[in-house]
Amino acid sequence: MAENEIQIKRKIIHIDMDAFYASVEQRDFPEYRGKPLVVGGLPEGRGGVVATASYEARKFGIRSAMSSKQALQLCPHAIFVRPRFAAYKEVSQKIREIFGRYTDLIEPLSLDEAYLDVTNDKLDIGSAIEIAQQIKQAIKDELNLTASAGVSVNKFVAKIASDIKKPDGLTFIGPSSIEAFMENLPVEKFYGVGKVTAEKMKKQGLFTGADLKKLTLDEMTGRFGKAGGFYYNIVRGIDDREVQPHRETKSMGAEDTFAYDLTVVEEMHTELEKIAKTVHDRLLKYQLKGRTITLKIKYSDFRQITRSQSLPLCIDDLDTILNASKSLLAATDIENSRIRLLGITVSNFLPVEIRQKPQTDQLSLFYF
Ligand SMILES: [Mg+2]
Repeated sequence: MAENEIQIKRKIIHIDMDAFYASVEQRDFPEYRGKPLVVGGLPEGRGGVVATASYEARKFGIRSAMSSKQALQLCPHAIFVRPRFAAYKEVSQKIREIFGRYTDLIEPLSLDEAYLDVTNDKLDIGSAIEIAQQIKQAIKDELNLTASAGVSVNKFVAKIASDIKKPDGLTFIGPSSIEAFMENLPVEKFYGVGKVTAEKMKKQGLFTGADLKKLTLDEMTGRFGKAGGFYYNIVRGIDDREVQPHRETKSMGAEDTFAYDLTVVEEMHTELEKIAKTVHDRLLKYQLKGRTITLKIKYSDFRQITRSQSLPLCIDDLDTILNASKSLLAATDIENSRIRLLGITVSNFLPVEIRQKPQTDQLSLFYF
């Protein structure tokens, strides 16, 4: 008997909320419904990007990560709103509660996306497709939002599957159809294959999974390094990565290089405020609270230093991040500095299982 026949197949669901930020805005503000809505940076000013576009906005070609200016050009009557991370975080917690009815093996990838291992589900439903259906229905009934689900025996295929029938889709790719599915998959859809690698592959005549499959393991690693080994397995439907409920993000930060060197403290503070704001947004987005704040400074002569401060409690509030950064800056030789880059990082996060419990649970743990 071949090894993969005796191995117990896992049941993995990947859930991805449809146009999450935009859908929450349209749910909460009826005036946005049915309209092209862009959540993200505003098109005025510099550097704004699209975080999420409603499906109405996507019809005009607006996509995530596109500059808001370009989005406005594509659809001049689009409505632009800033993200409300606190609201998305709240919805995200409710979605996790729904997941938690079926399994504790939940690996969140962001506020609106997670892997679930339902091989042994809590309610003994057994069918991963049935569980995915129930989760989608609960999200619809209780939160008035839609999600798409992918169901398969591994994370890689489940994730691709959830994207196939968006919005409000459910796609199952079972063990017998995985190989054919992978062979037909365009290389740019492969996990971890970025634009650059995809271009490189196409130049080598590799357009689909079937093309990748013709290469030996040595050829794959020779051409694509360590990632080549991963692609080699993936194209054969082999992905043993487990759903990791305790997966840790180690740190979260942001930095900025300036058009000219900063020499005045007020200017440095202004820049720190912008950077702290970005870090703060990211912490909220990923529901992280950290205990250590690190300031990175690069000087005009490219010398670089970092200074850290650890706090007694995990925090995610803007004031604390900013004040700690300012005091770290003040403790450097600020008078004689010509600064070309500043960066702030928050690290030392709470473990995921504590983060996901509401505050009251944590308190009651201490009381009893
Ligand atoms: Mg999504």
